[in-house]
Amino acid sequence: MISNINKSPTAMWNTKQASKVYGIDHWSNGYFSIDEQGDVLVNNPLTNKKSQVSLMKVVEGMRDRELNMPVLLRIENILDESISALNKTFCQVIDQLGYQNKYQGVFPIKVNQQAQIVEEIAQFGARYQHGFEVGSKAEMIAALSTIEELGSLIICNGYKDQEFIDLGLEATKLGFTCFFVIETLTELPIIVQRSTALHIRPHIGLRAKMTTKISGHWGATSGERSVFGLSASQLIEAIDFLKANQMLDCLELLHCHLGSQIPNIRDIRSGVLEACRYYSDLCKEGAALAYIDLGGGLAVDYTGSQSSAEQSRNYSLAEYCEDIVDTIKTTLDEEGLAHPIIVTESGRATVAYTSILLFNVLDVVSFEPKVFPVQADEEHQLLKNMREIFTYLKPQRVQECFNDAQFYRDEIRDLFKRGQISLRMRSVSETLYFSILHQIKDLLASMERVPKDLTDLAESLADIYYGNFSLFQSLPDSWAIDQLFPIMPIHRLDEEPTRRAILADITCDCDGKIERFVVNQQTENTLPLHKIKQDEEYYLGVFLVGAYQETLGDLHNLFGDTNVVSIRLNDDASFEFVKEVHGDTIEDVLSYVEYQPHEMKTRFRNKVEAAVRDGRINAKERQKMINTFNASMQGYTYYEKETLIEQLGTPSNPLKLRAIS
Ligand code: PLP
Repeated sequence: MISNINKSPTAMWNTKQASKVYGIDHWSNGYFSIDEQGDVLVNNPLTNKKSQVSLMKVVEGMRDRELNMPVLLRIENILDESISALNKTFCQVIDQLGYQNKYQGVFPIKVNQQAQIVEEIAQFGARYQHGFEVGSKAEMIAALSTIEELGSLIICNGYKDQEFIDLGLEATKLGFTCFFVIETLTELPIIVQRSTALHIRPHIGLRAKMTTKISGHWGATSGERSVFGLSASQLIEAIDFLKANQMLDCLELLHCHLGSQIPNIRDIRSGVLEACRYYSDLCKEGAALAYIDLGGGLAVDYTGSQSSAEQSRNYSLAEYCEDIVDTIKTTLDEEGLAHPIIVTESGRATVAYTSILLFNVLDVVSFEPKVFPVQADEEHQLLKNMREIFTYLKPQRVQECFNDAQFYRDEIRDLFKRGQISLRMRSVSETLYFSILHQIKDLLASMERVPKDLTDLAESLADIYYGNFSLFQSLPDSWAIDQLFPIMPIHRLDEEPTRRAILADITCDCDGKIERFVVNQQTENTLPLHKIKQDEEYYLGVFLVGAYQETLGDLHNLFGDTNVVSIRLNDDASFEFVKEVHGDTIEDVLSYVEYQPHEMKTRFRNKVEAAVRDGRINAKERQKMINTFNASMQGYTYYEKETLIEQLGTPSNPLKLRAIS
C-alpha cells in the first residue's frame, strides 16, 4: 500500500542527463563537466590538452590530509584563466576594431579580500598590468604590499582621509599609477593641500553620477538617486577648483561605475554612451583625461539561462568587450578626441568561478513512511476512516482523498490536545496521512490536469538533506539577497537522483536552508538528489562562490571559517595541493567574541577539581574531562564524525538507530 517516490533508477539514465538536470554545461563556463563514472571534473582551462581532475580525487586527498568537510576549494588555474580571458578578449577586440589605445583592468579588492586571492591576482595579473581598486586604507595597504608590477593601476574609491591620501601620494612617488577618484567634493581640498605639502603631483579621477538606469538586483546603485558620484554641477565645481589650483592637468581619469551584475547588454551600451558624453565634455573643459574607468558590471551567469534575468546575463565576454570598445571609439571619433585607456573593475566575473564550497550530507529527514502501521483490534474510528481512503484513491478523486486525509488528521490532533487519544495513535494517523499524500503525489505525476490545491504537493513532501555547513558563514548572499548558486552532487551522477530535497545547514536557525535551485534550466524549489547510502559519504558542491561569500559571512552559532584548500592542475591531469588554511578552531571563534580561552580553561579546571574534592569524580576522570575540554577547544567548529557515530551506524537513517552496547 505504501507509495514509493524512490522509483528504481531507469536503465535510460546517463551522465548526459545529469548534465542537463544540473545545467553544468550552461553555468560552468567550461570549467566543470561530468565524467563517465559520474564524478564532477575540473577542466584545466589553461591547456589545450584534455587535462581534467575529478573532484572526488581532490576530496580523497583532503581526507588523507585530515582536512575535514566543509571545505572551500579554490582552483588557481581558473582564477588565472579568468584574468587572462578578460585581458586577452579586450586586447583582441581593440585590435579588431582599430582602437588606438589599450585596456588595463583592476580587481576590486572588496569582492574577495582574502590574502591568497589578492596575491594570486597580483601574480597572475602582472603580465597584463592588472591592478587593484581599493575602497579603504586597509585595502590600499593590501594592494600596495601585494602588487608586483609598477605599471599596474591602483584606483582609490571611497571616502579618503588624510592618511589614505598620504599613502596614495607616497605610492605615486614610488612609481605606482595611483588614482584618487573623487566621490565627494570635500576630498579635493585635502588632496590639493597634501600633494602641495609633499611636493607630489597626484593622479586624479572624478566619479560621475550615472543616470542610466540598469536592470538587475543592483539597479538601485545607478540612476538619479544613486548615492555615488558627482552630479553635473559638482563636476563643474571640481573642474573650476582644480583650475584655480593649477591642477587641472592632474585630472586624468573619468570614473563611471555602471553597476554590479548587469544582466542586460543594452544597459551596458547605454551606460558607456553616457560615460563617453561626460568624457568628451570634461575634455572640452580642459581636463587632460587619458583613462575611462567603467567600474564593474560584467555579470556571472549563475543560472546558466543566458538571459536578461537578474542572476544571469544575455551576453558573452566578447560581446561585452566589443560593445564597450566600439561605443567609446565611435563616440570619441565623432568628437575628434584621442582614445583613452579603457579600465574596468570586474569583480565577481574574475573570482566567482574559482571557489567551490564542498560539504557532506549528515542526515536526511524524509516524509515518506517506512513502515505501514498495522491495524489494531480496537482502532479509533477516525483511524479506520483514514485507512478507508486507500480504497477510493484514484485520479478522479485525488482532491477528495486529500481533503479527507487532512480532515481526519486534524480531528485526531484535536482529540490528542484534549487528551482523548494517545501519542501512539497520533503517530499512526500521521503515518497514514503521509502514506496517502505520497500515493496522491504518484497519481498526480501521470495526470494532465492537477487540482490547484495539489500543485505544491511534491514540494511539501520533499526530503530535508542536512548539510555540514553554515549558510550564514559560507553562503551569506543566499540568505540575505536570495542569490542563486549552482548546487549539485559531485559524484554518483551516473545514477539517477530519485529524491527531491531542500537543503538545511547545521545552524539551529530556521533561515539556515536553501529552497531555490537551478534545475533543468529553471528555478525550482527542490533539488534532485540521490538516496544516501549507509557507510558512504554523500558530497555536494556549491559552485561560483568566489565573489563576496568568503568574507561577508558571520559567526552564527559560532561556526567559523571553513578549511580552505587551493589546488593547481598540471598539464598531465595531475594536481597539487598548493595551499591550505585550516578553518577556525573553537578557541578562535570564542576569542573573536571576546571570550578568554585561557581563563575558560582555568575555570573549567577549577570546576572539575571541586568535583574531585566533593568525591563526585576521581582524579583520573578529572584528567580525562580536562583533556576532552582542551581538545574540543582546538577542534573544528563544524560536525566531525567520531567513534560514537561508528557505533550507531551512519546517521543517514535515524529510524534505524541501534541500541548502544
Ligand atoms: N567597482 C565598484 C566601484 C563597485 O562598487 C563594484 C561593485 O559594486 C565593482 C567595481 C564590482 O562590480 P562587479 O562585481 O559587478 O564586477
